[in-house]
Amino acid sequence: MVQSIKDKLTQLHKEIPSSVSLVAVSKTKPIADIQEAYDAGQRIFGENKIQEMLGKYEVLPKDIEWHMIGHLQRNKVKYMASFVSLIHGVDSLKTLQEINKQAKKHQRTINCLLQVRIAKEETKFGLTKEETEAILTSDAFKELKNIKVIGFMGMATFTEELDQINDEFSSLQQFYEKHKQQHHLNVLSMGMSGDYQLAIQNGSTMIRVGSAIFGERNYIA
Ligand SMILES: *Cc1c(COP(=O)(O)O)cnc(C)c1O
Repeated sequence: MVQSIKDKLTQLHKEIPSSVSLVAVSKTKPIADIQEAYDAGQRIFGENKIQEMLGKYEVLPKDIEWHMIGHLQRNKVKYMASFVSLIHGVDSLKTLQEINKQAKKHQRTINCLLQVRIAKEETKFGLTKEETEAILTSDAFKELKNIKVIGFMGMATFTEELDQINDEFSSLQQFYEKHKQQHHLNVLSMGMSGDYQLAIQNGSTMIRVGSAIFGERNYIA
């Protein structure tokens, strides 16, 4: 039997504690699928391309919280500054400064997460823990009044090795615990369709789940 989006959401909610937020990752998926999830009560959606998110924002209900989960192109931040509710993948002070500038134009504060590199595999994205600490304690950062860093985001290595994924999540949890009080953090975004259970065991407060809700993505279409 093919499960509907609604069935999959119901199933997921049985597995995750109510204290963990669920971001439904709708990238590449049509408006109809998002509407179906919305009708089932889902309000937080994640996209990884600004243009695509903007198009969907314009036609869908206005009480949706839009999260940008992809790598950011600085010159496109302006297109989402009026409505984005959380930006997950911030990995430089320069990007924070651009978000701050655009948020100021709209007289709002934009919540952000710093993306911390935890995967052992080679990846271009994410800050090292040292770089993350350097940003949080810098004077330039403290001047930014229209952004708020509310936590960290991390992605584990793409592997079947559960021990490795567990170690990577655990290292981010420790890093988060170390900084949470001093920097008023309350979001630890980690876990996707394949590893959200492990992420939750390691203290994740926000999971980003796409294919387990909407089915596999077809990147060719
Ligand atoms: C696509 C994506 C997800 C969701 O991936 P699934 O495996 O489909 O759940 C989560 N986080 C980020 C950053 C993504 O780009």
